[in-house]
Amino acid sequence: MSQKWIYAFSEGDGKNKKLLGGKGANLCEMTQIGLNVPPGFVITTEACLACLEDPERRLPDGVLDQVRLHMAAVEEKTGKTFGGRANPLLVSVRSGSAMSMPGMMDTILNLGLNQDTLQGLIAQTGNERFGYDAYRRFIQLFGKVALGVPDEEFDAEFDAVKADAGVKHDVGLSAAHLADIADRFLKVVERVTGKPFPADPYEQLTIAIKAVFNSWLGKRAVDYRREFKITSEMANGTAVNVVAMVFGNMGDDSATGVGFTRDPGTGENVMFGEYLVNAQGEDVVAGIRTPKPVAEMEREMPELYRQLVELRNRLEAHYREVQDYEYTIEKGVLYCLQTRNGKMNATALVRTSVEMVQEGLIDKRQGLLRIQPEMLEQLLFPRLDPKAGGKPVARGLPASPGAASGIAVFDADRAEKMGRAGEKVILVREETKPEDIHGFFASQGILTSRGGKTSHAAVVARGMGKPCVAGAEGIHVDVHTRQAVVGDQVFGEGAVITIDGTTGHVYVGEVAMIEADFSDELATLLSWADETAMLKVMANADTPRDAERALKFGAMGIGLCRTERMFNAVERLPIVVEMIVAETPADRQAALNKLLPIQREDFVGIFKVMSPRPVTVRLLDPPIHEFLPSENQLVEELDRLRHLRDTVLGMQVLHDAVDFMYRTRDTHPEVPLQADPALVDEAIQKKEAMLKKVRALFEVNPMLGHRGVRLGLTYPEIYSMQIRGILEAAAECQKAGIEVHPEIMVPQVCTAQELKKVKSWVEAIQADVEKTSGVTLSFKFGSMLEVVRACMRAENLAEEAEFFSFGTNDLTQATFSFSREDAENKFLPMYNQSHILQDNPFEVLDEKGVGRLMELAVNWGRVARPGMKIGICGEHGGHPQSIRFCHRVGLSYVSCSGPRVPIARLAAAQAALTATEAGGQAL
Ligand code: ADP
Ligand code: MG
Ligand code: MG
Repeated sequence: MSQKWIYAFSEGDGKNKKLLGGKGANLCEMTQIGLNVPPGFVITTEACLACLEDPERRLPDGVLDQVRLHMAAVEEKTGKTFGGRANPLLVSVRSGSAMSMPGMMDTILNLGLNQDTLQGLIAQTGNERFGYDAYRRFIQLFGKVALGVPDEEFDAEFDAVKADAGVKHDVGLSAAHLADIADRFLKVVERVTGKPFPADPYEQLTIAIKAVFNSWLGKRAVDYRREFKITSEMANGTAVNVVAMVFGNMGDDSATGVGFTRDPGTGENVMFGEYLVNAQGEDVVAGIRTPKPVAEMEREMPELYRQLVELRNRLEAHYREVQDYEYTIEKGVLYCLQTRNGKMNATALVRTSVEMVQEGLIDKRQGLLRIQPEMLEQLLFPRLDPKAGGKPVARGLPASPGAASGIAVFDADRAEKMGRAGEKVILVREETKPEDIHGFFASQGILTSRGGKTSHAAVVARGMGKPCVAGAEGIHVDVHTRQAVVGDQVFGEGAVITIDGTTGHVYVGEVAMIEADFSDELATLLSWADETAMLKVMANADTPRDAERALKFGAMGIGLCRTERMFNAVERLPIVVEMIVAETPADRQAALNKLLPIQREDFVGIFKVMSPRPVTVRLLDPPIHEFLPSENQLVEELDRLRHLRDTVLGMQVLHDAVDFMYRTRDTHPEVPLQADPALVDEAIQKKEAMLKKVRALFEVNPMLGHRGVRLGLTYPEIYSMQIRGILEAAAECQKAGIEVHPEIMVPQVCTAQELKKVKSWVEAIQADVEKTSGVTLSFKFGSMLEVVRACMRAENLAEEAEFFSFGTNDLTQATFSFSREDAENKFLPMYNQSHILQDNPFEVLDEKGVGRLMELAVNWGRVARPGMKIGICGEHGGHPQSIRFCHRVGLSYVSCSGPRVPIARLAAAQAALTATEAGGQAL
């Protein structure tokens, strides 16, 4: 007995897609649950692999014998004979692997036709034209896919006959014409292959089976698998499905169609699909005739429509998933020819999940697991209307998702001015710097011609949830002339442009948009996610506006509020600069005194929005020179100012000078507009002082330099001001009856001594604020873990810190000793390509290294402080794969940018659901 290579549809295991392929497994399953599938059988993927292993690509022993046995069974079921003249059995030969793969062989229909069986078919149907039409189609399809005869060879003959007959379309051809075409096609095959067209049905079948098997290694299929990363674990070899033909082209009581059990665009629970009367399967997709919407069938063939509704209901009830199915009606009898899980957009996925749960078709668990969290991104940003059909003029990196239209503006100040005036603007720069931040706030989106997905523009835009296209190198941005050149097009300031941060496309002009759609269904689905998840999902937000938006997305608190973003606002930067340039502690304190009420108001704003949820505020983190202009910029500005002073000739030049000073933001707004040479001198002096400071603050390696808590300990008055701002804001809210839970977080900590010191200030300020306000404050004090040493000392740090938050961006840099910019620009792509590193660790959390360190720190921290609250606030906090890891190591929360909150909520639920599946929390 040889191996079992073939399973009849009535015996194959519908769950075994690896062996039978997706199409075959479902044909078996549908047959076994009693749906009307034409009889047939599946030749297994094992037979395919065995055939491909043979140097001569012969079918393995036993396959052909088993084919004959199974064909006999099909003959018995249909009452027809394969190769028989009286009542011929015809079959289709269809490929199908475990993964749906359009790269493989086309289906051959009507196999078994030859001069004899053709006569039988004609006699049976009484339709000569139909018979010859089927025959010539079969010869061409078999010739092409099984014998490799190019289509053009057939087309040439076809056109010749049409020309002779004087008709344009095949419908104009008579039976005699079609018979002539069939004849010519047979000759084409013989000429091209050097052999007559195989007339013996079993020979046809054998050739077709081998052709399907070989198509697994065909270029199209191999390329497809590479492109979509289909590994041999996912799909290995293709099965062959041999199915008795049914005819949708046998008259007006015959039809063929395709359908979805629900609308795949909206998710609505309605009949959805198209059909064609008197046509064969391939005609629907081929687009020769325009199919009718299925709703018309209800009127045209009510009884069949009823059957179709029943088929659809049974498919859904059985598969408990939206199905994409194919059917054919032959003389009033409905046959199902294929089903598979339907591919849907995010809107439809969310709606069907919620409705199928409510209908009791699936449970919440299934409803949550069937949606890939990343898909939700489609719903959370406005996007370009696919029907708008604009043509992009350039393409950059999709750096922050969503789309936006607006007037191109080439500097941040002007963007802010126009934004305030109610204009929609897109900030266009070569690249952006921290001092452009006010321009971001005012813009709908950001376009840069330089920089990657982690450039300043990209990171800040993502944080704010604004669309950004970065590094659109095809665009030449000239900030001085205020115009951009793309190929032979030029757009200047004021021109309307559209950017799509999801695709990286840039358009000149406005492109129609579809608004983000946070539907009731999505809210319901995510509420189920929250019930299921162990991890809480917080947002990174720096302003009350960001916080409000995060709240809409379902953030359960703020996990990271960066105070430096507050410093960057346009009216504050001069005060911050004053603080930095201050020569004495007294001068510095004077500047800080101006900042205190501003910071306090910031915090009050955020606390109010988030009440009663926790808000974690991080004390100042970046090195302070980031708030100053660059050395080069200052030198250039000084040159210009000195030149102006030396060449002051008349009012006009002075006007220029003043105007220029106005555009350099450190100028006092209260200075009168009247030109005065003394002003130029004053500006020169200020710039010189600043330049001196910039030079003094120069650092060889700013990332590892004077920043975070190190800076805080050097200038205690800065952190003290911030701590006071937080605690006074809390007191103010509490007095007003608003419940607040602030958390003070110290960045860049590497030793418990640092924390102790800051904590002593916190305690002193707390006592003071409580005394003056008469309010008892409740808040937490904690530490970032973003330095390797901090992780190693987590047990000690936990004695001072009530919570930890992993800053995985810095921690990844520190663990790898890679600086992010250099790594991504210089060697990471090569590392990824040559598989030295699987992923970019700045995008996908490196579980084996960075993650291992985190796990150790979590465990050590909780030795000192059982049940300690520990989270993550790096960009990784919003990525499903990293969230899964955070769940496994037992973190309490993840924090991510507002628009990623829904994605993180779903991912957190899925992590909880699949972890229980794998038998509790592993690791
Ligand atoms: P694909 O994977 O491209 O959908 P299929 O194997 O499903 O290829 O076949 C292509 C078309 O031929 C479909 O419309 C299908 O319904 C039709 N078809 C396949 N087998 C038969 C058959 N035995 N009888 C009638 N139509 C068939
Ligand atoms: Mg199909
Ligand atoms: Mg950091």
